[in-house]
Amino acid sequence: MPAPGELTFAVPRGAKKPPRHLADLTPAERREAVAALGEKPFRAGQVSRHYFARLADDPADWTDVPAAARAKLAEGLLPDLMSVVRHVSCDDDATRKTLWRLFDGTLVESVLMRYPDRVTMCISSQAGCGMNCPFCATGQAGLTRNLSTAEIVHQIVAGMRSLRDGEVPGGPARISNIVFMGMGEPLANYNRVVGAIRRLTDPEPDGLGISQRGITVSTVGLVPAMLRFADEGFKCRLAVSLHAPDDELRDTLVPVNTRWKVGEVLDAAWTYAEASGRRVSIEYALIKDINDQAWRADLLGRLLKNHRAHVNLIPLNPTPGSKWTASRPEDEREFVRRLESHGVPVTVRDTRGQEIDGACGQLAASES
Ligand code: SAH
Repeated sequence: MPAPGELTFAVPRGAKKPPRHLADLTPAERREAVAALGEKPFRAGQVSRHYFARLADDPADWTDVPAAARAKLAEGLLPDLMSVVRHVSCDDDATRKTLWRLFDGTLVESVLMRYPDRVTMCISSQAGCGMNCPFCATGQAGLTRNLSTAEIVHQIVAGMRSLRDGEVPGGPARISNIVFMGMGEPLANYNRVVGAIRRLTDPEPDGLGISQRGITVSTVGLVPAMLRFADEGFKCRLAVSLHAPDDELRDTLVPVNTRWKVGEVLDAAWTYAEASGRRVSIEYALIKDINDQAWRADLLGRLLKNHRAHVNLIPLNPTPGSKWTASRPEDEREFVRRLESHGVPVTVRDTRGQEIDGACGQLAASES
């Protein structure tokens, strides 16, 4: 069965396929691919160890592989997927955003955020996005194409290499948290995103060995794909970009709401919470005089009360030319207070990276 997301949202025609990469393949497919290159299948495990466990970027270091086979295996399984256009940093270099150019010239972004106790990476799942949310920079340009599984995974591998190589101050570290909150709607690129979650979380050397509990997949609310995701058996967190508790407003802020309503989206969220045992994160960008009224906080509180939910309020990061801005501090405080009065846990997201166009899609937009 095709992924509901993929069935529903066609990708523009004529997009060239990214080159096949080790990280696109399951361990069994890797052995077949290695055999097809004329090498012994067990070398698939060696190459996997170099890529996923050792984060080796130079085949010359693969001392367990005969020199003659290295180039052939590297060429066949580890093609160049992306190159850095530029890095921009802030917060004393603890936040670093990277703009990548993919093999076909497409631009995507990732962000690495270092905290005292953890390292979070925010990654892209599509080049552009087809969901058209009017406050989001990525939404303005539309969808260019889906990223391949390897293009998603490699953003993390590159981040891990930078941490290992001391490019991010604070000494060597591992990536503990991954959020699919960069460019794109992850559940509209369903199979590739699920493949990426497997590569990220499979134990070394098959994958990177990151805990599923550290991964958050954020969606606009593609209900059939959310239900399918609940059946994968992952312990990942699901984030739902709600932004309004009523259909009338949500139809305008998250246009896909005209297809799947607030009630259906929340029901699918509770199904996921039940299946995964994890609280769902309800994302709500506070926009001054648009969605920040006290009555909307009360309505949201009533919808979420007694469910496995946590609200993450995000002060709107205005996109260039936007007529909207973040809520007044007193309205934000009242919004929090009302949600708490319904017994709903709520946090206000820290706004790291604002001065480097940290909001979704802003860096790529400024480049093109
Ligand atoms: N397509 C997915 C994931 C990418 S966006 C989704 O919509 O959930 C990650 C989060 O950033 C979403 O909650 C999105 O609504 C929010 N976002 C996008 N642009 C923003 C902006 N300008 N200010 C604040 N939050 C924004």
